[in-house]
Amino acid sequence: MSLLATLKATIAAEGPIGIDRYMALCLTDPVDGYYTTRDPLGRAGDFVTAPEISQIFGEMIGLWTAAVWQQLGSPAAFRLIELGPGRGTLMMDALRALKALPPCRAAAAVDLVEISPILRRHQQEALGRHHPDLPVVWHTALDAIPSDLPTIIIANEFFDALPIRQWVYRSGSWKERCIGLDGSGLKFVETTSPGEPQRPGAAEGSIMETAAAAASVASEIGQRVGHTGGACLVIDYGHCNSDIGDSLQAISRHGYAPILENPGAADLTAHVDFANLGQVFTAEGLAVHGPTTQGRWLSELGAGTRAERLMKGREHAVTAMISQGLRRLLDPMAMGTLFKVMATASNDLGPLPGFTA
Ligand code: SAH
Repeated sequence: MSLLATLKATIAAEGPIGIDRYMALCLTDPVDGYYTTRDPLGRAGDFVTAPEISQIFGEMIGLWTAAVWQQLGSPAAFRLIELGPGRGTLMMDALRALKALPPCRAAAAVDLVEISPILRRHQQEALGRHHPDLPVVWHTALDAIPSDLPTIIIANEFFDALPIRQWVYRSGSWKERCIGLDGSGLKFVETTSPGEPQRPGAAEGSIMETAAAAASVASEIGQRVGHTGGACLVIDYGHCNSDIGDSLQAISRHGYAPILENPGAADLTAHVDFANLGQVFTAEGLAVHGPTTQGRWLSELGAGTRAERLMKGREHAVTAMISQGLRRLLDPMAMGTLFKVMATASNDLGPLPGFTA
C-alpha cells in the first residue's frame, strides 16, 4: 500500500490526524518514509546542507569539539555523538580537523544516530575511507548510547525534521490544524484537541507551532550531558523567540512543494524554536550559549582564516569555489542569518568558542 493509501485508511478509521503524526509517517515510515527510502542531499537530490557546501563547516565543528574537549579536562575517552549525520561529510571533516590535536582525536568514540539505511551506508563509506582507525557505532536513537563517558553531541539540520503540531486561533481559542480527507486526496482541517499553546490571544487565523518531539530530544540531551559532563551543539534554521508563524514546508528538488501531495516523496521541515530548546536545557540544569547566527559563529571560530589558508597558491577555479562556498555559509542573504547556533553544556565549562561576542 502506498503511504497516501495508508494515510487515507488511517484517517477514514480514526478521524483527522495531527501534523506531528503526518510528519513522522512521511519522513520516517520504515517502508515508505522520505528519509528511509532515499539520499535527499546534494545537487541531484532535494536540498543541500552546510557540510555539503564547504569542508570549512565540518572543520570548524572539529575545532569547536577540540576546544570543548580541552575545557572538559582532556579526558582519555569521550563520546562524540552526531544526530542525523546525512552523508557523514560533517563528521568526516570534523575528524580530519581533529588531526591537529591527536590526543583528542584518539580519545573519540564516534556514535551516529541515524534512521536511514541508505544514509548509513554513505556514512560508513565516508568514515571508513577517511578514518578507518576510529571506532564508529550506529544507533537508531540517542537512548541506545551508553551514558558512560564525557559527551559532545552535534546536531546540524536534525531538529527541523522532528514532528511539530500546528494550532490556528479561531474565535478566542486555539484549534489544532490537522489533516483530513478530501475526496481522493488530503486537506487541512481544524479540530479541538488538548495540548494547545499557552499563548493567551492572537489575531484571528494566526498559526502557532508546538514541538514536543524536539523538547523531548532536548531533555534527553540535557539529562545525558548533565550526567556525563560535556556539551551539545545545535545548528538549524529557526527563530530565537517562540512566536506566531507557520513554518511547515515541503521541499523537493531545491524548491517548495505542496505539503499534502505525494506524502513521503518530499522533505517536510519546520523552523526550530530555539527559545523552547533553551528553556528545556535550562530546566535540565545546563548552561545555554547563544543562540547566535551561523555567520557570526563560523566567523568567530576563524572560518575566514581557514578559507584563506585553503586558497593559498591554488588556481582561480579552486579559490573561487572556496570563497563562494564560504559566502553561502556566512552571507545574511544565504544561510548566515537564518541559521542559528546554540550550545548547551555542563555549568562548569565556562564560555564556549563562537559564543563570546
Ligand atoms: N546533518 C546532515 C543531514 C541533515 S538531513 C547534514 O547537515 O548534511 C537530516 C538527517 O537526520 C538525515 O541524516 C536523516 O536521515 C536524519 N533523521 C531524520 N529524522 C531522524 C530521526 N527521527 N532519528 C534519527 N535520524 C533522523
